[in-house]
Amino acid sequence: MDKGYLELISSSAFREVLAESPPLPGTTVPLDEAAGRFLAGDVLSPEDLPRLPRSSMDGFAVRARDCFGATETNPSYLDLSGDLSITAVSAEPLAPGRCVRVVTGSSLPPGADAVVMVEHTQDLGAGTIEIRKAAAPGENMMLAGEDALAGQPVLAKGTLVRPAEIGLLAALGICEVPVGARPVAAILSTGDELVPVSDTPGPGSIRDANAPALAAMCAQAGAQPLQMGIVGDDVASIAQALTRALDVADAVFLSGGSSVGVRDLTIEALELLPDTKVLVHGLAVSPGKPTILARSRGKAVWGLPGQVASAQVVMFVFGCPFLAHLAGDAQAFTRPRAEVFARLARNVASRQGREDFVRMRLAPGSEGLPEAVPVLGKSGLLKTLVQAQGLAAIPAGLEGLEAGTTIRVMLL
Ligand code: AMP
Ligand code: MG
Repeated sequence: MDKGYLELISSSAFREVLAESPPLPGTTVPLDEAAGRFLAGDVLSPEDLPRLPRSSMDGFAVRARDCFGATETNPSYLDLSGDLSITAVSAEPLAPGRCVRVVTGSSLPPGADAVVMVEHTQDLGAGTIEIRKAAAPGENMMLAGEDALAGQPVLAKGTLVRPAEIGLLAALGICEVPVGARPVAAILSTGDELVPVSDTPGPGSIRDANAPALAAMCAQAGAQPLQMGIVGDDVASIAQALTRALDVADAVFLSGGSSVGVRDLTIEALELLPDTKVLVHGLAVSPGKPTILARSRGKAVWGLPGQVASAQVVMFVFGCPFLAHLAGDAQAFTRPRAEVFARLARNVASRQGREDFVRMRLAPGSEGLPEAVPVLGKSGLLKTLVQAQGLAAIPAGLEGLEAGTTIRVMLL
């Protein structure tokens, strides 16, 4: 067959293709297992939270207008109606000119619309409380329904469940959380020269470093990696291995053989599979030009470059967000990455028309910014990745970046 890349596409065009895959159908998990997952539907609040107005300070619940303008030198005096413990609920409205003693978390009586901190009061005895600071309506208290209103959406579909969301769901009594599925990501390596990690390679062989590294990245991205072994450089074997992977996985990542050389058989293998279309062959990015994306039986099949650095960079920049997208992340391709600003230590050249992802070592810098030292090296070397703490993208339109430029470094 005629070998050559399809049109090289930009990273943004590639993300658009990736975003066309529908997220996987959702499931329900216990609240304690929801962290790191993405909500599969809007969550409506089953009740008002808090149910009643609550104090957020130790002090006195008041009618704000009763201590309007109160100061140290011109205090207000209120009659104490009693004490409200943290569990007490008072149905009796707070009468004008009166206050009740509350603790942090006490439910407020009807009519009370502010709390004066105990620090700004003086108990004069005989049921009289001196108020030395005015309280605006709503001050030092939470309104009923201020966190969540019954029947209203509190968390949107596609939201990442972080500890903050777990806390809100817990307070609302939501013990079962609808979340996106954890994608099963099959990982295959191809190359006659590859042996499993546990084997001792002969002189012409190397260990399969990609599969374990890619599996670790999939797991970090919230997917379930499934390492499915090594296939030789043989079209039929690759096609068989892809078929087996597609039977069990939601997405397949095959590294090696994705370029346009005589031993690059991934495209040919894909062409043997039924219900399969190659959507992308060739990215205008470096490293990572020889990247393939196909859709087979409705699932994404990735052909990643075999070069260790290229495979990991493509996985980090595109593969991991794609897995998050499958898992239901509404912002998989738009959520800001964990990144730092850093000052570039050296000039970096870049070819126009190609977006470069430069590995960066971060070193202590001056003026509050770390220094980003480009780790230049061959994409077949593993140590360049080990030395790098981040990646900096040099846009396709630039011919490079000058030393001293402030850049963003995505943390690896
Ligand atoms: P390929 O993309 O198959 O042409 O491979 C490019 C380079 O990456 C070759 O030197 C391969 O030996 C190497 N390579 C391919 N797959 C792996 C792998 N799974 N682990 C380590 N190196 C690999
Ligand atoms: Mg190969």
